[in-house]
Amino acid sequence: MLNKIYIIGHKSPDLDSVAAAISYANFKNRRSPLPRDCGEAEMQSGGEEYLPASAGAMNKETVFALEKFGFEAPEILKNADGKKVILVDHNEFAQAADGVENAEIIEVLDHHKVDFKYSEPIVFDVRPWGASCSIIAEKYFKNNLELNKNLAGLMLAAILVDTVITKSPTCTENDKIIIEKLAGIADIKHWQEFGMEIFKIRSSASELSDAEIIKSDFKDFNFKQGKFGIGQVETVDLNNFADRKNGLMDELNKLKNSENYHSVILFITDIIKEGSEFLVATNDQEKVEQALGVKLDNNKVYIKGVISRKKQVAPKFAGVFDE
Ligand code: MG
Ligand code: MG
Ligand code: MG
Repeated sequence: MLNKIYIIGHKSPDLDSVAAAISYANFKNRRSPLPRDCGEAEMQSGGEEYLPASAGAMNKETVFALEKFGFEAPEILKNADGKKVILVDHNEFAQAADGVENAEIIEVLDHHKVDFKYSEPIVFDVRPWGASCSIIAEKYFKNNLELNKNLAGLMLAAILVDTVITKSPTCTENDKIIIEKLAGIADIKHWQEFGMEIFKIRSSASELSDAEIIKSDFKDFNFKQGKFGIGQVETVDLNNFADRKNGLMDELNKLKNSENYHSVILFITDIIKEGSEFLVATNDQEKVEQALGVKLDNNKVYIKGVISRKKQVAPKFAGVFDE
């Protein structure tokens, strides 16, 4: 019997978490080939089969990228209970698929802050890079494992989204080198333009409901003072959202009350102006203002220069609410 090992990203999956699952499953299967031609005895001793999975439905740019590069959407694993899993693009259980407490975690590969506890020693590869796919691409290069054009394109797309086309403070020199290499393999000369193309898809929100906009890239944080939900949406023009703000605000308040959040925040990032408009539903406005270092005007505020949840937003809230 082959051991099935699911490689899975976070809830509200983004392109990096899906592309990481697909590319890392490919990497692992090629590094430890399936015993296809082996005899009964070897079959019984087992081999590993790595399967990409996703903890929820794909967002728009993920669907676009999978289609563009000819990949099937990975299986949606709603519950990880009893499964063997490798976590990619997250390590906090608050962001993981349901049932992860009862899963056997084999390995973690991620680029976020570490908030992880486990009873066994495992392979744990977390680097302060701009995307999970950068870490995986580096593994291909280091192992001289050939990357085909389509997989390189998919990984490139994911890194461009996560690093906001290299503009994000999370983007490192390693990411930039890997972007150039992958663009070469994928034969995408003008990767900046390709990145903009993806962000236009990502920010064409007109046909999405307010709830869908909020949940399209949304993460939970369990701070000592309560549960926070922080969503982000990127756009090439903030004005696209001008007439949606009231509806989004109502939806944030609904979500806060129905799911018992301390605060639910959506920040809309203008990737051209490089700043974000924050919409805040909270039980403690004063402390949120303290965290952000600015006053809210009618539960909203624009902050110049802030574009990264991981580096610039979540730590601010953790500093005040995880004490
Ligand atoms: Mg992610
Ligand atoms: Mg990522
Ligand atoms: Mg992101």
